Amino acid sequence: MTELNNQVAIVTGASRGIGREIAIQLAQQGCDIAINYRTDEAGALKTAQLVEALGRKTLLVPADVASFSACSQMVDAVMDKFNRVDVLVNNAGIARDSLLMSIEPEDIAAVINTNLYGVIYPTKAVALHMMRQRYGRIINISSSAASKPGKGQSIYAAAKGAVEAFTKAMAVELAPRNILVNAVAPGVVVTDMSEHIRELGDEEIKARLLLKRYAEPQEVADLVVWLARPQNQYMTGEVLHLDGGLKMA
Ligand code: NAP
Repeated sequence: MTELNNQVAIVTGASRGIGREIAIQLAQQGCDIAINYRTDEAGALKTAQLVEALGRKTLLVPADVASFSACSQMVDAVMDKFNRVDVLVNNAGIARDSLLMSIEPEDIAAVINTNLYGVIYPTKAVALHMMRQRYGRIINISSSAASKPGKGQSIYAAAKGAVEAFTKAMAVELAPRNILVNAVAPGVVVTDMSEHIRELGDEEIKARLLLKRYAEPQEVADLVVWLARPQNQYMTGEVLHLDGGLKMA
């Protein structure tokens, strides 16, 4: 018997990177996994294969998290198959770093829509089911950019800062139904998303990290699983920084 045995988790943006690792580690703890993605079906199928190899069930739920109707249909599909949802990890995100003077309005909208509405909409879609169950764990993936933005990250930082405020507000609203809501704010993690910035500023970035290395996706997933466990009965409304000491530097 493992800690999350027979629970059901939705992980958004689970076709690669941090989301895939979260899906795998939740499955290792006994969760069946609804794997969300927007376009990368091959990546989502690979995640499904890795989860099923652990003996857990999967459901592919392609949906643009920036659309409420798509999120609603996604959660309906999960309820149809599993009849419950215990854990929601709002992980899907995009970065379009650029100075405010040069960023295109479409990129501003894409970053806000995906990173902010993409957390609000799945949360709204699952909340009713979790409230009926009187149980739930919601974990939002923020970023160290919310508290320590780099140059060119204004819109991304604004979206992630709003995600942190939303996390706290949801913790207040959902606590009476035993639904705990927290956020994890990673620094630089080795995934496709950070490839460009790691190539551009490798030495400079590492110099700003007390631990002088980037995080691996598995390290983020570890913390998410800890927050998702039923044994976590008392932590809610927190933003946990996993940034190798970036905020201290
Ligand atoms: P990644 O490797 O680029 O993967 C992003 C995932 O999100 C993919 O599965 C992608 O699926 C999905 N996605 C993007 N837009 C979507 C949408 N509109 N609807 C549904 N799915 C969507 O990114 P990552 O590095 O793993 O990042 C995961 C989270 O960690 C993000 O919230 C990011 O902001 C945060 N984060 C990352 C870092 C870092 O250094 N990597 C640091 C701090 C925070 P498709 O390819 O199918 O679109």
